[in-house]
Amino acid sequence: MTDGHSTSGNTTVLNDMSNYETYNKILLIEDNPGDARLVELLLGESDLLNCQVVNKTTLALGLEELEANDDYEAILLDLTLPDSRGFETLEILLDKFPENNVIVLTGLSDKSLGVNAVKAGAQDFLIKGAFDADGLAKSLRYSIERNNVLKRLEETQRIAGIGNWEFNSDTDEYKGSDEVFVIFGLKPKKGALKGKETFAANSPLDIFNQIHQETIADPQKTIKKDIKIQRTDGTIRYAFVQCTANKSAENNLVLSGIIQDITERKLTEQEMVKSQERYQEIFSKSNDAIYICDKKGVLVDFNEATTRLFGFNAFEMKGKNIHNLLSPVASRFELIERLESKGTVKDFEIEIEQKSGDRKYCIITANNLEKEDFQGYNGIIRDITERKQAEELIKARDLARQSAKMKEQFIASISHEMRTPMNAVLGMSNLVIKTKLDDEQFNYISSIKQSSEILLGIINDILEISTLQNGKVDFEYKDFDLHELLANLINVMQYKFKEKDMVFEVEIGEKVGRYIKGDKLRLNQVLYNLVGNGVKFTDTGHVKLKVQNLNENEGIVQLNFEVEDTGIGIPADKLGAVFETFTRVRNKNRIYEGTGLGLSISKNLIEQQGGKIGVRSVLGEGSTFFFDLVFEKGSEVLGIREEDSIDDVEFEGDIDLLLVEDHKMNQLVARKTLEKQWPDIRITIADNGQIAVNLLKERKFDIILMDIQMPIMDGYEATDYIRNHMPAICNMPILAMTAHAHISKDEKFKEYGMDDFVLKPFEPKQLFNKIAKYVQRNNINE
Ligand code: ADP
Repeated sequence: MTDGHSTSGNTTVLNDMSNYETYNKILLIEDNPGDARLVELLLGESDLLNCQVVNKTTLALGLEELEANDDYEAILLDLTLPDSRGFETLEILLDKFPENNVIVLTGLSDKSLGVNAVKAGAQDFLIKGAFDADGLAKSLRYSIERNNVLKRLEETQRIAGIGNWEFNSDTDEYKGSDEVFVIFGLKPKKGALKGKETFAANSPLDIFNQIHQETIADPQKTIKKDIKIQRTDGTIRYAFVQCTANKSAENNLVLSGIIQDITERKLTEQEMVKSQERYQEIFSKSNDAIYICDKKGVLVDFNEATTRLFGFNAFEMKGKNIHNLLSPVASRFELIERLESKGTVKDFEIEIEQKSGDRKYCIITANNLEKEDFQGYNGIIRDITERKQAEELIKARDLARQSAKMKEQFIASISHEMRTPMNAVLGMSNLVIKTKLDDEQFNYISSIKQSSEILLGIINDILEISTLQNGKVDFEYKDFDLHELLANLINVMQYKFKEKDMVFEVEIGEKVGRYIKGDKLRLNQVLYNLVGNGVKFTDTGHVKLKVQNLNENEGIVQLNFEVEDTGIGIPADKLGAVFETFTRVRNKNRIYEGTGLGLSISKNLIEQQGGKIGVRSVLGEGSTFFFDLVFEKGSEVLGIREEDSIDDVEFEGDIDLLLVEDHKMNQLVARKTLEKQWPDIRITIADNGQIAVNLLKERKFDIILMDIQMPIMDGYEATDYIRNHMPAICNMPILAMTAHAHISKDEKFKEYGMDDFVLKPFEPKQLFNKIAKYVQRNNINE
């Protein structure tokens, strides 16, 4: 195959196509060969039509041919065929091929049959023997053209979703274009349909009957109606029907009209209504003010929240200029300026003025609104007053926290600064008091010593209350022996009672368990304070401490403590105030020493552990302070002493001690105190950590007393250096000496590798014990 253009297949198709364009294909269903030949001859003769005729001799063969070829433009149908006779023949054909263009051929005697055939849907009828060539060709040609026009109309209707129809109420006949049937979900039928039974309940007939009733009531009226159709398959369609009443040729009332499928539009409309309802709901229920105003700010529309926000009722609100209700004026102008220049503002912070004159903090989001018939803005205003207030509260709280923290830091550093010289004062007093003194000198020194001790107590209390008020206290939960704690309390208090010749009674309830779990030191502190106040404010009589079991279940005990005295009492109007900081009840006759901090510390300690503290008192007769606290039930603890006490006799103090301390007075106090205790002790002093480290490179010591806060190299750094960079002596005992009262709590000294600490001002005995303990331990280890 060398030439691709000359295949025989292609050529045939092209010829066919040109045939198709030139010839009208006509099916002739006719059993009489003479009649058939005549038709062919006549058609060949006429110039009106150029056609190709195919002859079939029975209805069955004709149907078969139509089945096989759908390109016939007209059918000439003889109504008298061997397999079908009369009108039925047409019905059968139209039923199967309703689209086809049928011209009926009848005999002269059957003229009325032809008329009926046309009524039933045939295009025309021809009487055999009564037509000539042109008559036949004309009829065919017209019918073909008409059919084409009809087809185009049907097509147009199909595209537009419009059908046209007619209903003759007198004959109960209905005719409709295909699209009418399509709209109703039915199979199209040509010709007039009779009787309601042809249709389902949703049929056009039914609906047209309704329309008919209305037309009868007012025949002049053009009926326009939206109808809802439920197709037999259940789907819902919407249609628009418009019709008028006319008189038919037979003078019958005929309704003619159109029907249009408007389902899509209707659904869109419904959707729009729904969404409009939704928006309306949002608009009316919104908590934010939503409004529309014109370019000047005059309100056109607004929701209920707008009236709520501004405090005007809807009537007052209407026509108000919303921009004038915004303040401060500078912000208002900025907002308007932005709207005018940019057409939008977002989350713009502003205040609004209410009817009452009150102001609210708000944010506005507004946008240009450009419509054909309206120009303005729409906007949303949100009330953020509460949020703003909350933010301010948070700011205030943060500020308060910050200042509390600063206060705490201030107090901590002040107390450190005070304790350092206090160490010197107390230490010196301790040293002087042991020298040879006359009575007068002894009294002076004793006063200095006592006053220093009181001052130290005050410093400690102030530091403690500041920590407590910041709520930063960690409480301990350890088993302890309550009986032992009370016995110690009696011991410690004893001398105060002896001085005043008073009695201290302790009464422990039968059910009070011996071992409990909780913060032993804090309990001791509170009891010490209450009992101490008891003796302080009583001159004759007793102080009685009662412990009672209030409640007990599932491993928990609630204990009640009462400290009753027979002292001066507290005036009723001062009872509430005694727990406040720095509150002291004035007494004209006598001055009692104190700061007014003890009870407030106690109250804080009790309450922060979930307890309650209170007081009853009768002026001149005595007071009873009481509190209750919840403990876990404890398990037995062995009576270990607080300090592992070292017998002084056993420890000779023949040691080399390195004292690292920058404060000259404190160097002296420590040195003298130690030399008094152990005459054989050799003390070397380093002014700071750096000097100490240098010294340690040259020689050995048995123990280091290390101050923490020092210039050049502080105690932590020095210890860290010794522990990590001086392997030969890295295990030597190091005792921290510090005026930082916090140290016992944060245990930082352990972190830096110190063995233990002594708080300045130091208790000489405690210092001796610790030195002895660590030197001996180190000797054993070596
Ligand atoms: P301080 O005892 O250091 O003044 P407190 O906080 O312990 O501080 O007590 C505050 C005040 O409450 C005391 O100054 C005193 O006026 C009064 N007060 C406390 N305990 C008693 C008591 N047992 N009898 C009479 N007054 C008391």
